[in-house]
Amino acid sequence: PDEITVGELAARMKMTAANIIKKLMGLGVMASISDTIDYDTAFLVASELGCAPEKEVVVTIEERLFEEEEDKNEDLVTRSPIVVVMGHVDHGKTSLLDAIRHASVTSTEAGGITQHIGAYKVKVGDGEITFLDTPGHEAFTAMRARGALMTDIAILVVAADDGIMPQTVEAINHAKAAGVSIIVAINKMDKPEANPDRVMQELTEYELVPEEWGGDVICVPVSAATKQGIDTLLEMVQLTADVKELKANPNRMAKGAVIEAKLDKGRGPVATVLVQNGTLHRGDVVIAGTAVGRVRAMTDENGRRLEEAGPATPVEITGLAEVPAAGDDFNAVENEKLARELVEKRRYQQKQEQFNSYQKVTLENLFSQI
Ligand code: GDP
Ligand code: MG
Repeated sequence: PDEITVGELAARMKMTAANIIKKLMGLGVMASISDTIDYDTAFLVASELGCAPEKEVVVTIEERLFEEEEDKNEDLVTRSPIVVVMGHVDHGKTSLLDAIRHASVTSTEAGGITQHIGAYKVKVGDGEITFLDTPGHEAFTAMRARGALMTDIAILVVAADDGIMPQTVEAINHAKAAGVSIIVAINKMDKPEANPDRVMQELTEYELVPEEWGGDVICVPVSAATKQGIDTLLEMVQLTADVKELKANPNRMAKGAVIEAKLDKGRGPVATVLVQNGTLHRGDVVIAGTAVGRVRAMTDENGRRLEEAGPATPVEITGLAEVPAAGDDFNAVENEKLARELVEKRRYQQKQEQFNSYQKVTLENLFSQI
């Protein structure tokens, strides 16, 4: 059950119903002894009354909605690495992502129309690599703090003719803070002024010591323009991923994050989600931030329709009732009604947060006027 009557709650808490009704009124909830209240409200009342509530009362919507058991070892399989490209503006992030993407398009796929969905998979040998293709620096910065969390490896692009710049340092700090492995792509090697030694020298100042100098940081000289070194770079990513032994459980409900989302005139809310664990199926009920809905259609970066998407797979989905925000978590769930309740709860929390930040701002404004 998702609800409990005031009377039953009182009995479980060994308290009079009047006590509870009074507390509820304090919270702005008008209820009589036979009315039902949701579990979160019940939990709030119980804790406010300093009562050790019985176990069933304490269970939150999230706990009832999400499958949170640990994956068993025998369910885990190797998954592809999730890679993000970081670096200073104009050092060649977009060019490199394009070069990688084109290097991977096989002749059998040549007919496919590639779409921008914010992420794509690349075949390397018998394996695959998932790239987050966050466009533009702004979106990247906004998502980086959370984006780094969904990634395993960061390719740090440094232009060989420019060296380490402020956003390079920012990227290094973000990657380090998130515990993401860093591979350095020394780009623009085709330029006559390219000076890879200088780049490596500068890297050591940020405790990134290249392998060739006795450290553990892989540096690959590349050119997004001539495609020189791209294959080696991809091999190094694969190698790093192998060492990390990345695993996931395809036999559970999907969970992951929203990479980007928009409102499409014809299709309604469209979101690219990255499945991090589990498998997403067409028809699944998903909740992403305050958006909920049933996956109506699912397509990959080549516009191909998919029935399901396993771990480390980015897919574009339609069917959500509203547009989620980039960086929102998403979960496939069994109970649609509960998912809608959680959306209500999240909306309420968002409003509270907005209200709190509004209050803070006005206070600050007040002081600044004195
Ligand atoms: P981003 O801001 O990091 O995404 O950088 P872009 O990919 O937009 O590249 C910035 C500029 O550098 C563009 O004019 C690219 O054509 C150029 N560029 C990128 N990679 C290379 C390269 O390997 N060699 C040369 N010569 N130019 C490059
Ligand atoms: Mg760019």
